[in-house]
Amino acid sequence: MSAVHHDNLLLRLKRPELLRATLGVQKQDEERMPVYDPATGAELCTVPRLAAEEAAAMVEEAHRSWRIWKRSGAGDRAALLHRYADLVAANQEDLAVIMTAEQGKPLSEARGEVAHGARYVRWYAEEAKRLYGEVQPQEEGDRRFFTLKEALGVCAAITPWNFPCSTVLRKVAPALAAGCTVLVKPASHTPLSALALACLAKDAGFPPGVLQVLCGPSAEIGPVLTRHPLVRGLSFTGSTEVGKKLMQASAAMVKRLSLELGGHAPFIVFADADLDAAVQGLLACKFRNSGQTCVAANRLLVQETVLDAFSVRLLQTVQQLRIGSGFVAGTDLGPLINEAAVCKVEGHIDDALALGAELACGGRRLGGSGHFFTPTILMQATATMRIMQEESFGPVLPVQAFRDENEAIAMANDTPYGLAAYFYSRDINRIIKVAESLHFGMVGINTGRMSSEAAPFGGVKESGFGREGSRHGIDEFLELKSVCLGGLERR
Ligand code: NAP
Repeated sequence: MSAVHHDNLLLRLKRPELLRATLGVQKQDEERMPVYDPATGAELCTVPRLAAEEAAAMVEEAHRSWRIWKRSGAGDRAALLHRYADLVAANQEDLAVIMTAEQGKPLSEARGEVAHGARYVRWYAEEAKRLYGEVQPQEEGDRRFFTLKEALGVCAAITPWNFPCSTVLRKVAPALAAGCTVLVKPASHTPLSALALACLAKDAGFPPGVLQVLCGPSAEIGPVLTRHPLVRGLSFTGSTEVGKKLMQASAAMVKRLSLELGGHAPFIVFADADLDAAVQGLLACKFRNSGQTCVAANRLLVQETVLDAFSVRLLQTVQQLRIGSGFVAGTDLGPLINEAAVCKVEGHIDDALALGAELACGGRRLGGSGHFFTPTILMQATATMRIMQEESFGPVLPVQAFRDENEAIAMANDTPYGLAAYFYSRDINRIIKVAESLHFGMVGINTGRMSSEAAPFGGVKESGFGREGSRHGIDEFLELKSVCLGGLERR
């Protein structure tokens, strides 16, 4: 373990106990796994590495806790969640520091992510009190039908490294509000944020076993979560490839699934758009988190009559972006998560250049330590390039021209993914037509940011199913039970 990094991280925290409990004391014979700093490539610290048997024991604990937790009053669950939201908000700075250390994003973005996550907790604190059932209209004189909403049971949440705080809270909050208990398996790159969130849940007063974090290799922990009969639901955010595997693995036990998978978002700029606003929207959408977001614009489609005007504005702005450590004020782009991520971006660029794309800016990794990559624009992209078909998950943007509305819609929809799509236009008829024609779970019009706790977040096609946020997000953790009361006196 790198003592320097470990101590440095604790020193940066106002409340080092947020991590000390899990990092500080190494038990005898305990297996640990390393966490790396993507800005330097150095080891940051180690966390306990659970084996399958330990994970199974935690599932059983979660089930014992659920039998009590499901009977708690909605008002009590709401109060605990409000207290949790208060604690997440009060510890925003520490949670942001932990996230920047393990994930690399600029501290300002990390602070924003913590605030975003806290809003989900607050939202579901309120929803806990609104799990209305139904009374069906009377069908026969001697019977009455009622529909109840009940907690699903023990649920697993498997989360990715790109949003290590908000992806956890977006699952945990509705699950707890519904009366489920949750086991979180964070990405092995970024377990520290989840561990700190679990520490705050304990401080908020959630009973033991209601929220637990399992750190360990997915090859060992994954099968426990998909095969254990006491785990009734699995909410996953990650790649489409892994989502498909989890779907197969969960089939044997017919588990309830919610899958938030990969995306390949088109960003369309029509000739009638406000081009300056479109550049700003594109920057927010494409280069946030160095392009490592599922809803990032992965391909830019520009109407041919404004291609030159738009490209000039875009290049000027992109060339001003600053790359560096997330802890340095003014950094726009932090490092990519690891060497494999850099290689994937390089592979996409090499393939595009070989097939005729033109490099307008960027296109290279930074020398020295860490996984930094310069923001890159590729002109004259064509449909056969890999970058136009696969998620890049990095700061590289291919640009393709289109003639008219119908061609733009066809190009945008020509993908197996269906998470997010964006377009800029000021023509109301076009806005309605294009919004209704795009086959995606979320459409952003004249904005590059559309994630909110108030709106359902999720995809269609190979981007998954199920929703997070809004009043719909809690349904992923509820069962409907129909109750028929018979033998009543006919009136
Ligand atoms: P990933 O490789 O699919 O991993 C996601 C999580 O799944 C990690 O916790 C990982 O654990 C675990 N995992 C991997 N293989 C597993 C298996 N066989 N069984 C059980 N768990 C397994 O994705 P990622 O690289 O972390 O995240 C990037 C991807 O997430 C992108 O495709 C992005 O689009 C997608 N994403 C989607 C959304 C959305 O809302 N739709 C949001 C954010 C990200 P280990 O780290 O231990 O392997």
